[in-house]
Amino acid sequence: MTACRTLRGMPWRPWEDVLALVELAAPSACAGCGRAGLRWCPACAADLAGTAPRTWTPTPRPPGFPPTWAGPAYEGAVRAAVVAWKDGGRADLTGTVLAPVLRDVLAAALAASPDHRAAVARGSPVALVPAPSARRSTRQRGEHRVRSLAAAAVRGAGPLRVVDVLELSRRVADQAGLGAAQRRRNLQGAVRVRPRGTPAVAGLPCVLVDDVVTTGATLSECARALTVARSGPVVAVTVAATARRSRPSQAAAPAPAGRLSVPRRAD
Ligand SMILES: [Zn+2]
Repeated sequence: MTACRTLRGMPWRPWEDVLALVELAAPSACAGCGRAGLRWCPACAADLAGTAPRTWTPTPRPPGFPPTWAGPAYEGAVRAAVVAWKDGGRADLTGTVLAPVLRDVLAAALAASPDHRAAVARGSPVALVPAPSARRSTRQRGEHRVRSLAAAAVRGAGPLRVVDVLELSRRVADQAGLGAAQRRRNLQGAVRVRPRGTPAVAGLPCVLVDDVVTTGATLSECARALTVARSGPVVAVTVAATARRSRPSQAAAPAPAGRLSVPRRAD
């Protein structure tokens, strides 16, 4: 037990220690524009914060695509930051840069969905369900990054619970580079709720979480899997939306800045 703690009694997080060492050894650069100095510069921060959360519908709309809210367009500094966060060793962006954006998108989604809003107002659980990650990606990244993002976005926010129950039931090809129809075929029937995970979502309003919505194939397949597990109504939130393949269908209600407007649970 003592081996897992530092002398100051803080939990030992080897991954964070490794990142800190890497940062000391390498010069810092902005994850959005690459400029030397700050690891996330004010100009890129303005890019990320410049778009109010909105509903997004891909064109064409895949069958079963859930009502989805997203942050800014997936381009420029936003795209660079998400890529760096996912596969460029910039896990530090989770809490400081991406979680605040997701938190605002989530607040807008909860406000706009009557079922979710009512559950939050009652203090009943709402399941925040990360899109599944391939085992190999999770291993390479050292964590399920979208799950960490979801957890960072709702830290301390009452009835919202991160429920990591979705998994891939078979191997799927990398979605990058596939068209809309190919992505749909690639994922069809490939996502399921883990057998022991069903009670965690049955009857509950669910919010799917992913980093980016592109063709909507992933969110549609995840929503199908939740419905099979007899979840309550499903909506989805993402940090960003691919601009070329999506169109904003309505502006969401203004989201409260920086905090979720949900009551905290007594426990
Ligand atoms: Zn920058």
